Amino acid sequence: PGARCSPNRQRLCRAPASGPAARAGPSPRAALLTGAPAPPPARHLFSDPAEMETLRGALLAWYDKRKRDLPWRTLAATEPDADRRGYAVWVSEIMLQQTQVSTVIDYYNRWMQKWPTLQALAQASLEVSMAAAGCSRCPCSSSFNAVPCLLEQEVNELWAGLGYYSRGKRLQEAARKVVSELAGQMPRTAEDLQKLLPGVGRYTAGAIASISFGQATGVVDGNVIRVLCRLRCIGADSSSPAVVDRLWDMANALVDRSRPGDFNQALMELGATVCTPKAPLCGECPVKQHCQARRRKLFGKPTPVPDVEDCGVGGCALCPPATEPWDNSLGVTNFPRKAAKKQPRVERTATCVLERRGCHGALEYLIVQRPSSGLLAGLWEFPSFPLAEDLQEKKQKEVLADHLQAWTGWPVVAGSLRLIGEVVHIFSHIHQTYVVYSLPLDGDVTLDPALSPSRWVTEEEFHASAVSTAMKKV
Ligand code: SF4
Repeated sequence: PGARCSPNRQRLCRAPASGPAARAGPSPRAALLTGAPAPPPARHLFSDPAEMETLRGALLAWYDKRKRDLPWRTLAATEPDADRRGYAVWVSEIMLQQTQVSTVIDYYNRWMQKWPTLQALAQASLEVSMAAAGCSRCPCSSSFNAVPCLLEQEVNELWAGLGYYSRGKRLQEAARKVVSELAGQMPRTAEDLQKLLPGVGRYTAGAIASISFGQATGVVDGNVIRVLCRLRCIGADSSSPAVVDRLWDMANALVDRSRPGDFNQALMELGATVCTPKAPLCGECPVKQHCQARRRKLFGKPTPVPDVEDCGVGGCALCPPATEPWDNSLGVTNFPRKAAKKQPRVERTATCVLERRGCHGALEYLIVQRPSSGLLAGLWEFPSFPLAEDLQEKKQKEVLADHLQAWTGWPVVAGSLRLIGEVVHIFSHIHQTYVVYSLPLDGDVTLDPALSPSRWVTEEEFHASAVSTAMKKV
């Protein structure tokens, strides 16, 4: 409403006659005759404005009574400065990716105490970049590549336990960008946030824009996917692009125009506390009367009974595949569905713990930084090299010695490598076995600064560095 459209677009936007059927667009049969793509059947859509309004009201009323008190929510509701609201929601959303709310609260509070504003975070980044050229942290600067900076250490210490360290790094980069390129003002719309800020994807952009700046835009995260798939009996693979697109359309259509941030948080809260993955509390659900999955469970069918053209005939893109029909014993948890996970691939990696006596007599270990993209991007690890399967120990040592020699320029004798044992770590898509060797070195070893970033660390420094859980096991 109010937007200026070209005549062509106006024609496309013009409302059809009236009633839910008209709003849902041409019937599948009509679409077939005209060659237009068939619209999803009515039961997979929200097409009745009256129903959508009731659902919004019920959900917001429930949220007002039941919402959890969370520090970023309090700040977003009370802070008059829009940029500070945006920053708080942004930090919380980045931390909440892959992490439980209860875990995040403490991390969020410590982060906001240390860097309460975007400017504070950007300023800390700049100061450290300037200091990095002549880092004075270690007197052994000849064997210290100066790149690992104090800020990185501080972020890692704060972030330790949250995982996915690159998230913290991207927050710093983005803060610097806002201050240096955007005059210190965060972009105000989801589209601009996603376009302009590193590390801000579609979901985070929608969350910041709706919660902090009041933009009427939807969000789709794991909780929202579950709730919407159940509300509308969407049983096709919920990670497929077609279903994800449909869910975004639905979230954008449903979002409350006057309280978009609260509505989005309410939908996510509902998924997190009531419409849970395994044991949803349908009896307590504020939107149960709109839920097709619950109707199906109670009455055996979704209602209103779909037109014969609707589902199951000719293959509906949003219904469960014919090979996985409704399972009564699962009830509403028939939805959502995901395609079966691929088996993780099996890999073996030789890892060498090189150790020396540092200038203060303490034992030090060599760690190197992984490439800035790919698995565990930018994290530090003991020098590691992929191994072919079924390589005997003698051969493994030779391969590892060759790698170490080529990489460091020192003569490395295979016989001096000691096999310590094996460590198994399961990544989401890789079953990784680290075959761990140790190699003590005598005297002061200087690394070639032209090689990939590396540094010697004490055990304490190792734990304070951005190292993966797998390396901690090693
Ligand atoms: Fe989820 Fe049950 Fe509510 Fe449906 S009625 S949205 S399945 S909690």
